[in-house]
Amino acid sequence: MASHSGLAAALAAIVGPARVGTGVTLAPFTTFRVGGPADYFVEVRSVEELRAVLDAARAAGAPVTPLGGGSNVLIADAGVRGVVVRLRLMDLAQPASKVVRASAGVTMNGLVRWTIGRGLAGLEAWAGTPGTVGGAICGNAHYGGRNIGELVTRAQLMTRAGDVAEVTGEAMEFAYDRSRLQRTRELLVWAEFRAAPGVPDALRAVARASLAHRKRTQPLDVPSAGCVFQNPDPARDRVPAGLPASAGALVDRAGLKGHRIGGATISAAHGNFIVNDGQATAADIRILIETARRAVRDRFGVELRDEVVRIGEF
Ligand SMILES: Cc1cc2nc3c(=O)[nH]c(=O)nc-3n(C[C@H](O)[C@H](O)[C@H](O)COP(=O)(O)OP(=O)(O)OC[C@H]3O[C@@H](n4cnc5c(N)ncnc54)[C@H](O)[C@@H]3O)c2cc1C
Repeated sequence: MASHSGLAAALAAIVGPARVGTGVTLAPFTTFRVGGPADYFVEVRSVEELRAVLDAARAAGAPVTPLGGGSNVLIADAGVRGVVVRLRLMDLAQPASKVVRASAGVTMNGLVRWTIGRGLAGLEAWAGTPGTVGGAICGNAHYGGRNIGELVTRAQLMTRAGDVAEVTGEAMEFAYDRSRLQRTRELLVWAEFRAAPGVPDALRAVARASLAHRKRTQPLDVPSAGCVFQNPDPARDRVPAGLPASAGALVDRAGLKGHRIGGATISAAHGNFIVNDGQATAADIRILIETARRAVRDRFGVELRDEVVRIGEF
């Protein structure tokens, strides 16, 4: 890797010194509020900046890790080597009457508000989903039995070499918790969503219902990263008859609700949420995840898979 100052200077030449840092603690950029330092941390606000940052990092031999809202990640206490790029591409547009285009850094809540304000239906039920469009597309965020990928008609992607291509929604390889971005490591630049005419007041009522449902069922007043495990597939994962195919319910029935390691606790409100009391380390959370996974495996023979993305050296 190039010298510390060499890459830092190259990044500063691209985005200006105010948006580059070295040894930046990542905890404040995540909803779990844990995570050590990034060697380099840079905020990009345009496609050109993103491409130039990828070039500079490649020239220096430094790996690049994209970060959106940090609401689905567990970042190691030891931090992340190389460059963490916070994508702050914030454009919103309506390129056709029934199409909404949102850049990767737009928050899901911002997108929902924008579409409702324009009388566009389709995204209102996603109100209350933390994070950005980039993170939602990368992990194919889900809510109420629907996946965000169902609404995506087109996307613009950037390869790690800086090449940009537009692909159809079908080519995004959406599946439960999956998209092609995880396979190719491409970066989402923007996505287009299918929309339909709607009445703002009616759309607002749907959004409010989603927010109220979240408030009732999720611990929203303490740091977390949402669900830590994917829900098991009832057939493939051989969930025993009579048990729900819900990771949270299995963790609950394994008696783990309220279980605590250091500053991390399995939420009493939701068995698939781990909450940070403010003192948790990433190691506490990792150990608690493994404890819950083992308990569910021993008790029910179901192997839970991670939904939260681990970043950095554990
Ligand atoms: C209280 C709470 C409730 C939640 N409820 C839900 C829910 O109902 N449904 C649900 O699915 N999730 C839920 N989550 C998890 C989280 O909100 C979603 O997964 C969200 O879509 C993540 O977006 P993000 O921008 O925060 O992604 P990040 O956490 O920043 O990143 C997640 C992954 O996406 C990658 N990434 C980010 N941006 C890009 C990009 N532009 N291009 C390529 N890769 C990128 C990152 O490298 C990382 O691997 C919840 C989280 C919390 C804290």
